[in-house]
Amino acid sequence: MKIAVYPGSFDPVTNGHLNIIERTTKIVDKLIVAVVVDAKKSTLFSAQERTEMIKEATKNIEKVEVKSFSGLLTDFVRKNKANIIIRGMRAISDFEYESQLALMNKRLAPEIETIFLVTCSKYSYLNSSIVKEIANLNGNISQWVPKIVEKKLNTLFLNKKT
Ligand code: ADP
Repeated sequence: MKIAVYPGSFDPVTNGHLNIIERTTKIVDKLIVAVVVDAKKSTLFSAQERTEMIKEATKNIEKVEVKSFSGLLTDFVRKNKANIIIRGMRAISDFEYESQLALMNKRLAPEIETIFLVTCSKYSYLNSSIVKEIANLNGNISQWVPKIVEKKLNTLFLNKKT
């Protein structure tokens, strides 16, 4: 059985992430989307909020489970009896960090393979930070994020301004 883990901060989840999730479910038996709790970078949304948003956005996609985790990714992958790590590759700029991460994980857990999915071109410039910035400036983010995220971000920034 092919079980994959797609880890990330997902602060918040975007249509770029969802595209990777959907495509991965076509090649694995089960996909666990793993939300990093103690991310190095400080996050706008709590781990619970980030998890809830992904759950809502993926409720109609089969084979997807959403969990949060802290500690070593390879430990989490092993604990869940998975053997694949999925990462998205947007541009060459992602390559250095992503390959470093994959090589480290390979040393830590040789039985686990990292698979990279190249983003589809319409999301290649998309990341969570840009979406947050646009929402904060009252821009329309509906083409980049699922409905639940749009609602959450707009409410959050509206409340901050009042
Ligand atoms: P991290 O903090 O681990 O980089 P992110 O939530 O930013 O977490 O991203 C998780 C994964 O999703 C990473 O592999 C990243 O390259 C990928 N990703 C992020 N945005 C996109 C996108 N627009 N298209 C495809 N993959 C993406």
